Amino acid sequence: MNTVIPLHPQATGCSTAPVIRERGQHEVFCGLTGIVWLHRKIQDAFFLVVGSRTCAHLIQSAAGVMIFAEPRFATAILDERDLAGLADANDELDRVVARLLERRPDIKTLFLVGSCPSEVIKLDLSRAAERLSAQFLPRVRVLNYSGSGIETTFTQGEDACLASLVPVMKTSPEPQLLVVGALPDIVEDQLARLLGQLGLPAGTAIGFLPARRSDALPAVGPGTRFLLAQPFLGDTARALEARGAVRVAAPFPIGVEGTTGWLQAAAAAFGIGADVVLRVTASARERAAVALSKVRGALQGQRLFFFPDSQLEIPIARFLSRELGATLVEVGTPFLHRELMAEELALLPAGTRLAEGQDVDLQLARCRADRPDITVCGLGLANPLEAEGLTTKWAIELVFTPIHGYEQAADLAELFARPLRRKALLTAPVAQPVAA
Ligand code: SF4
Repeated sequence: MNTVIPLHPQATGCSTAPVIRERGQHEVFCGLTGIVWLHRKIQDAFFLVVGSRTCAHLIQSAAGVMIFAEPRFATAILDERDLAGLADANDELDRVVARLLERRPDIKTLFLVGSCPSEVIKLDLSRAAERLSAQFLPRVRVLNYSGSGIETTFTQGEDACLASLVPVMKTSPEPQLLVVGALPDIVEDQLARLLGQLGLPAGTAIGFLPARRSDALPAVGPGTRFLLAQPFLGDTARALEARGAVRVAAPFPIGVEGTTGWLQAAAAAFGIGADVVLRVTASARERAAVALSKVRGALQGQRLFFFPDSQLEIPIARFLSRELGATLVEVGTPFLHRELMAEELALLPAGTRLAEGQDVDLQLARCRADRPDITVCGLGLANPLEAEGLTTKWAIELVFTPIHGYEQAADLAELFARPLRRKALLTAPVAQPVAA
């Protein structure tokens, strides 16, 4: 079955464009950051980071709101005795897990999350997860993945987490359309409604990975066609393919064009025409077009520069340039997965400067020379660049905010329009009082 639907058959955009490849110092959060949105999404899971006080500070400050609730993440601190090999970290981990599960019967899936320190002392968390699973099954499933900052970027934590779920998904040959990637519940509901209206063949299930609850984890098998909702899920995609599922190639559901292309690819995978999608989505597209028309003036012709942070850069850049008329100065991405990004690259305006990886000093030099109107970057770079008079947008905000689908398209555009408006206000000449 051909699951690829060319949105614009002639468009080649940046498909074969040269890419600046850099491997140097990079300034990004680590994969632990994903816990902040994953613990909200998987409502009966607990994330136990096996790390240092630094790791604990990172997730505590990133997810500080949780102090008001029974938290669903914590850090088992490896202290000097563990790091020096004087204590058996496995015994201590077993004790911490037993205490936690005794106190919290609501936990159904426990993720042991590796960190830089646990990697450095070579603590084998996959064996620990196996051992603890055997001890606590069937009440609790214990899995593990790494969120270590060594050579990873902050969205890869989600990829590693979802990939760790794939082996425990049940096998089923039944037809299924599986949406892969953590989305805020409200966005998931909107997309599920639209997919449900496409008229998929009778008996075709619509599933989501991750599921909101552990007992709703979808099955997988040769009847599964899966659509990525997030671009940073290369390992998860590979793991699903190894279970017989087939990826539906599509742009990402960001902006009106991306969402329509994504739905059309899903429809085509089940033999449903693009015209059906246009009919089903007519009112949502209309609403989004009206909302976008109100923001376009603020973004038209504005020059954007993306530092590599989340792997969402290319779809967002495509949306801002094609639907809002922004000019792309440089689009950086931590990793360029050409296969998963093929549809997006084809839509990106030809001649866009693409960069993969980071050598932060070189990239800062290009950015300073270009003086873009907005720079999308991590928190660590934003303040210094603002001090130099550049307007910035925090990349992490794009991951925490609902941005997918038709209803969120204008909200996403607003995230970029707002700092421009603020800057215009701050730099506007102050009106002189009129003499009486
Ligand atoms: Fe820092 Fe590594 Fe812990 Fe992340 S995992 S907070 S990079 S020590």
